[in-house]
Amino acid sequence: MSVKRKGNSTVTIFPDWCKGCGICAAFCPAKVMELNDQGKAVVLREEECINCGFCELHCPDFAIMVRPKVNDEIPAVCRAVLEKAARKPKTAASDGAAEKAGSGKQKG
Ligand code: SF4
Ligand code: SF4
Repeated sequence: MSVKRKGNSTVTIFPDWCKGCGICAAFCPAKVMELNDQGKAVVLREEECINCGFCELHCPDFAIMVRPKVNDEIPAVCRAVLEKAARKPKTAASDGAAEKAGSGKQKG
């Protein structure tokens, strides 16, 4: 799964660590953040983030974290596997027993 897609990332800025150098705001290709009137970087357009990683990599104070958004939606193929695993597993022995029980023949 590619996370380098617009709108797939969460951008967090830790204001206590931000010294307001403005590198992130100046160089973010998607213009996701700006400096506020206290001189701290703030995220204004998170949905535009393309997860290029520039800000996280270049912030001199490690004040930015970019992470993929958690996708709650389980793909259909995974759901099928999970549902199958949740069902009581059939063993070869129990299958055989069921067939014998169905035919009315039982070993005594
Ligand atoms: S690069 Fe880091 S320290 Fe500089 S403004 Fe952005 S968050 Fe703040
Ligand atoms: S990861 Fe790239 S696009 Fe996203 S906020 Fe940082 S610099 Fe901007």
